[in-house]
Amino acid sequence: MERTLISETISSVGKSVRLCGWVNSRRDMGKVIFVDLRDRTGIVQVVMVPAEIPAEQHELMKEIRSEFVLEIQGEVVARNAKSINPNIKTGTVEILAKSIAILNRAKTPPFELDKDTSGINEEVRLKYRYLDLRTERMQKNIRLRDAIITRFRDFLHARQFCEIETPYLTKGTPEGAREFIVPSRLHPGNFYVLPQSPQQFKQLLMVGGMEKYFQIARCFRDEDQRGDRQPEFTQLDMEMSFVEQEDVLQLVEEMMIDMVKATAPEKRIQQIPFPRLTYKEAMEKYNSDKPDLREDKNDPNLLAFCWVIDFPFFEQDGNGGWTFTHNPFSAPQPEYMEQLREKRDVGSILAAQYDIVLNGYEVGGGSIRNHRPEDLKTVFEIMGASEEEIQTQYGHMLEAFEYGAPPHGGIAPGVDRIVMILANEPNIREVIPIPKTGDARDLMMDAPSPLPAKALAEANIRLKA
Ligand code: ASP
Repeated sequence: MERTLISETISSVGKSVRLCGWVNSRRDMGKVIFVDLRDRTGIVQVVMVPAEIPAEQHELMKEIRSEFVLEIQGEVVARNAKSINPNIKTGTVEILAKSIAILNRAKTPPFELDKDTSGINEEVRLKYRYLDLRTERMQKNIRLRDAIITRFRDFLHARQFCEIETPYLTKGTPEGAREFIVPSRLHPGNFYVLPQSPQQFKQLLMVGGMEKYFQIARCFRDEDQRGDRQPEFTQLDMEMSFVEQEDVLQLVEEMMIDMVKATAPEKRIQQIPFPRLTYKEAMEKYNSDKPDLREDKNDPNLLAFCWVIDFPFFEQDGNGGWTFTHNPFSAPQPEYMEQLREKRDVGSILAAQYDIVLNGYEVGGGSIRNHRPEDLKTVFEIMGASEEEIQTQYGHMLEAFEYGAPPHGGIAPGVDRIVMILANEPNIREVIPIPKTGDARDLMMDAPSPLPAKALAEANIRLKA
């Protein structure tokens, strides 16, 4: 018999069904046992009465505990008015069990899975993430994540974007964060790093004529975990050729509105088009470059997007020199191009850099890039890099740009933060299927962990005594 999903039982009154799932809870009333059975679509009450069930299964019936995996054959019956349960979607029906099979037994879980687990010790939840994921809230969050990513994908594909994977084993990129290092076994003394973003690859894809690229990209940053950060996180990385700042802003705005409508119709976007603030205005008015513009901060369904634009390109590096504020590959705003080329009054140069902000969180940043090699080189010179440093670190980019790089720009909305806000969760760990702790450990897999001496030797690693 084909499996019926629990959500389908409501419309199957009078039919025989076969259900598979987990025991959400069980109440033994002596003569009958009630089991709330759970699958990915919901919960339904199963009634087990010995007279309806073959004698050889009566022992099994008594054995059943929370989180056992069951296969139930039975009949869907309508509940009488008095026993309708308004708290579950299938509350108008129940399953009269005719046959029970235990597909697997389960130890008593370390916390209850039929309740919201947000109050449970997080280390315990992360060690047993596979159990936490069974809870209703986590199921909802992870499925919302899937819906949001799917909507972004569909939106971009419908506009002729091409989804392209870029390498995870690569060379460092100078965007400011410390990178994870991977030793090369085949090339002793040499290292890959895990990319802190696909920035260079996506720009090289533009040189490669791809024109419209996107990727659901994992990014790796080996930072001390300040606040709500993860050593690996996901962004919707995008890059386009022959665009100006306005094109990127329009496209992303349309994409966000489409995504909210499709995946969180209960939400209201406070202002469309999204308000735009210059960095200067944002700092003067809100003392923040990610202002929370919500009229009512207690309204869980209010979304206040805004753009912050016109960031300064450079800032003092503390040693008398200059460094970039956001991204060394950004272009200046067109009216500052001459100033950049002449390296004049660099502190006042504004970048073609934009951030998208939602409810006080930066949920994405991007820029129009410097596509002419000599302009890009000038940026590195302003930051005090020697000719040799420029060649070893960025030579491949400068060379690529000499072969007809188109004007291009992009952005990278952060998937984790967007899902977090739409799910009304307080941190991104609640919407990442398998997150790390605040100090970068995976408690479920027990990572990081020591390696056998042989593995270290093969990777040409000798540990400090
Ligand atoms: N690479 C940038 C980041 O990861 C995004 C971009 O400029 O497209 O924040």
